[in-house]
Order: sequence, then C-alpha cells, then structure tokens
Amino acid sequence: MYSDLAGKTALITGASGGLGLHFASVLASHGVSVTLAARRTNSLQEACAAIAAAGGNASLATLDVTDRSSIVEAVARVPGRLDILVNNAGVSGAVPSLDCSEEDWDAVMATNLKGVFFTAQAAARRMKADGQGGAIINIASILGLRVAGGLAAYTSSKAAVLQLTRSLALDWARYGIRVNALCPGYIETDINRGFFDTDAGKALIARIPQRRLGKAEGLDAPLLMLASSAGSYLTGAHIAVDGGHLVSTL
Ligand code: NAD
Repeated sequence: MYSDLAGKTALITGASGGLGLHFASVLASHGVSVTLAARRTNSLQEACAAIAAAGGNASLATLDVTDRSSIVEAVARVPGRLDILVNNAGVSGAVPSLDCSEEDWDAVMATNLKGVFFTAQAAARRMKADGQGGAIINIASILGLRVAGGLAAYTSSKAAVLQLTRSLALDWARYGIRVNALCPGYIETDINRGFFDTDAGKALIARIPQRRLGKAEGLDAPLLMLASSAGSYLTGAHIAVDGGHLVSTL
C-alpha cells in the first residue's frame, strides 16, 4: 500500500531513541533511506547499525535543533533528494507553573517550537529546490489540544506546533509540500515505563477510555499514510492516536 515510499529519503529528528528511532525503523522497513539526527552521535551510530542489520539504509547527522547552523548542516547531509521530514525532537520540561523560570520556558520553546519551525523551513527550502515536493510530519501531542498539570510550556509549545502546521501547509502547498501533524496520546517507551508502574501512572491509564497505553506501532499507519502518496490530499491536518483520551469524560 505504501510502495511509493521505496527509494525515498527521510530526515528524522530526535532519532537516537524513543519514538524517533521507531519512526526511522518503520520508514526504513518500507524502503526509505533514512537519516537519523540527534545530539548523541554514539546512540545514533548504534541506531543506524540496528537499522542496517534489519536490511535498511541509514545514515546519521549530528543535530541540535536549538542551533540553526546545526539544522542547516543536518538537512544538507541527507543524500540525494529530501522527500520526508519527521520533526520529532522534543522535550517535556515538566515544572510547576509558579516555579517555571525564563530558562525553563525558553528551553522548551527552543526545542519544541523554534526548532520545529527552522527544521521545517530548512527541509522545505531543499524540497522546493529539488522540485518534487515532499511531506513534513510534525510530532505534536494530545497535550496540544488538552492540558495536563505542570506542563504549561509543553502544552503551549505543542498547541503552537498545530497552528504552525496549518500555516506551513498553506504557505508551501504551492511547492507540493504537505505539512501535517501527529498527536500521540500516552505511548509506552523506555523512558516513561517506570512512571506507568506507579500509582499515579496507573490512575492516568484508568482515565484513558481504552484503559491502556498506546504502543509505538499504533502510530505506524498514520505515519506511513502522511509520508506516502496515500496521504496526497492531506495537508494542514492533525491525527490523534490516543485510545480515546481526547474524548475522555469531563
Ligand atoms: P524521547 O525523550 O525518548 O525522545 C526525544 C528525542 O528528542 C530524543 O532522541 C532526544 O535526544 C531528542 N532531542 C531533544 N532535544 C533535542 C535537540 N535540542 N536537538 C536534537 N534532538 C533533541 O521522547 P519520545 O517519547 O520518543 O518523544 C518524541 C516526540 O514525541 C516528542 O516530540 C514528544 O513530545 C512527542 N510525544 C511523545 C509522547 C509519548 O507518550 N512518548 C506523547 C505525545 C508526544
């Protein structure tokens, strides 16, 4: 179904672990040559080796999305034409709102909003120059649509990513560049598994209508649709994958 992905190229930010590495592996398994980008070169080397061992084609680019020159260099490292960007790098910056410092606020916005914008811009400039259009997938969150305690900067940044997605979809449709967002709900990863074993974690799961966490695999079909020609008339949209968390009872 997603056969047109074979032979394409993708840049995935924050791909040294978690969802970013999963997205890179899924795209690689569909024949996409993937460039994994993040700050930790060692982790990226291991991730690329794992994808290569599974038969995929992977290269790495060291990237800090808070540094514009680093973004431009990473985008330039994608070999051949750039077809797909998965704008995944993000930080949560959990801190009570009354204690949130200017540094706390700026750190979240620099990664989750400014980094997403300038990575999208650098990718779109290349896609425009390459003349074949492209697909940009911004990883937002259901916390861009609803709120949770102690995450004012995070929820604001993700809400802004959704509006940014719509703005860029409008601006770049003329170049054949589609811009969409994925809004994961609570997805089990190595980093949060410990929390969901606690009483607070179990209480959170009880508020999800499906009474379970999501798995990274649950994001595969939306990712592949948005990246491929299956989603050719989709732009400026967001897709929530959350076990019904957004429609939980008030
Ligand atoms: P994670 O912490 O495992 O992954 C985040 C990645 O971003 C890491 O590879 C990290 O190194 C990278 N990163 C952070 N700052 C960076 C920077 N300045 N430059 C380059 N890379 C940087 O978390 P995750 O759960 O895999 O999250 C991935 C994305 O999915 C994030 O945008 C997050 O907000 C979003 N998300 C996750 C969930 C979930 O339940 N896991 C839910 C909703 C949204």
